[in-house]
Amino acid sequence: MRSPAVQSTGASTPARDSEGCPIDRQYLLATLARLLSIPSPSGMTDEIVVHVTHELGTLGIPYSLTRRGAIRADLEGEHHSPDRAIVAHLDTLGAMVKALKPNGRLELVPIGTWSSRFAEGARVTVHADDDRRLRGTIVPLKASGHTYNEQVDTQPVSWEQVELRLDERCACLEDLVQLGLNVGDTVSIDPQPEFADNGFVVARHLDDKAGVATLLAVAKAVRESGVPLPVDCHLLFTISEEVGVGASHVLHGDVAELVSIDNGTIAPGQNTSEYGVTIAMQDSTGPFDWHLTRHLLALCRDHGIAHARDVFRHYKSDAAAALAAGNDIRTALACFALDASHGYERTHLDSLVALGSLLHAYVHSAPLFQRDAMKLGPLADFPHPPPSPDPPSAEHAVTATSSVDSRSPASSERSAGK
Ligand SMILES: [Zn+2]
Repeated sequence: MRSPAVQSTGASTPARDSEGCPIDRQYLLATLARLLSIPSPSGMTDEIVVHVTHELGTLGIPYSLTRRGAIRADLEGEHHSPDRAIVAHLDTLGAMVKALKPNGRLELVPIGTWSSRFAEGARVTVHADDDRRLRGTIVPLKASGHTYNEQVDTQPVSWEQVELRLDERCACLEDLVQLGLNVGDTVSIDPQPEFADNGFVVARHLDDKAGVATLLAVAKAVRESGVPLPVDCHLLFTISEEVGVGASHVLHGDVAELVSIDNGTIAPGQNTSEYGVTIAMQDSTGPFDWHLTRHLLALCRDHGIAHARDVFRHYKSDAAAALAAGNDIRTALACFALDASHGYERTHLDSLVALGSLLHAYVHSAPLFQRDAMKLGPLADFPHPPPSPDPPSAEHAVTATSSVDSRSPASSERSAGK
């Protein structure tokens, strides 16, 4: 069901392809490939910021930048308040040089939270201050079975147990200094993308570049259809989500609803839909907004979009940062599926398209509550009593693992979400 205060826009229907989907799959994948090709660990995001502004310019969407480069783009609606916003983050995980080692290798610390287990074997680029880029590999301290034999298998997993081996002639600290390297140099991790014909996309940094590409595909669909939005929608691209800052600093004063786009994890015990969109009900910071969450679920049902709902224990997103910064806004989290998040990640095009279809429906839906245009107001138009519960089992994925997702009610709607 739909929460009582929610009304359908009714009047107009956006353009859709022959399968009824507003999202251009080729554009989405091509955009994702370009985003992945630009290294953007937190703290080194200027290049990708400029790239996304060019893309927005091509789509004819006005934007402005914060001092450090978070982007706020504007899709104008028929009404200007209460505004809504959708946010995705441009920054990714990475690493930083902690020390130049006497053996001519580099000690690293992670940028963002990720295990060195997934760093072992990664091809990387070191970004020196003079703009030179040096290539290398992150290897365990005991990297050769021929030398260390079974010690390779018993070596602990931690960032102290790996080092960066440069593809340069360097065997001592002085060699590293000669190469112009410094403590604090940023290390970007190769995305190693593969786009399979069957729709699987495998790469590092799909978190959140798959979300950014999906949001741009939604923006393209909105621009090309010409169907007016009921209210202004801001597209926010943040630059430091992986280090916890998120959408704390790029909101308009009058944004009332914020939908964060990020990954939903495919893992045992999770209810995420591998080929649909997943609405997060709670993350480690607490529940998402009751009304906005149910509004997104209702849109999925109304538009036949494959979906599920899930709860994440070890998880924070742009939305959490926005609330922590003191913004009194309704927040929700809509997820594309991601296997092995913050590691060797994999998603599926159907999941990205389901997410895009939901966002497209969302920006064309009426604002949740007109009273949200005001920061303070009377009781009279406050939403009460709470809406009645959703239909039972509507978003239950039945079992926890991705392998059985095809048997779930969510994925039984999958074809409708294409
Ligand atoms: Zn992340």
